[in-house]
Amino acid sequence: MCVSLKVWFCNRANAITGMDLMQEILTIEERDEKPVVDGQNMAAVLSRENQHLRNKALCSYCKRLEVSLVFLPCGHLVSCNTCGNMQRTCVTCGSNVKGTVRTYNA
Ligand SMILES: [Zn+2]
Ligand SMILES: [Zn+2]
Repeated sequence: MCVSLKVWFCNRANAITGMDLMQEILTIEERDEKPVVDGQNMAAVLSRENQHLRNKALCSYCKRLEVSLVFLPCGHLVSCNTCGNMQRTCVTCGSNVKGTVRTYNA
């Protein structure tokens, strides 16, 4: 069980940033969905999660580019590099954007 769980988290970590990973873990706990499954179930869960992450990773403004800019100080990762630099307020929480941090997938 421990081994399966570790592999599962490694796969997810490759696709998303650390901050996002924390949010995902919290979301999973709320959903009460068992991450450890085997065989075909595992494939189905992974493919569904992949789809979920892909949808989530698109910029909230242009819906076209991947998110790559974190708003400060609220920390929301919801915008691509292009759109984010033109925003004065965060689309998610509405707080003032005092700065941005560019993020990169490993
Ligand atoms: Zn954009
Ligand atoms: Zn925000």
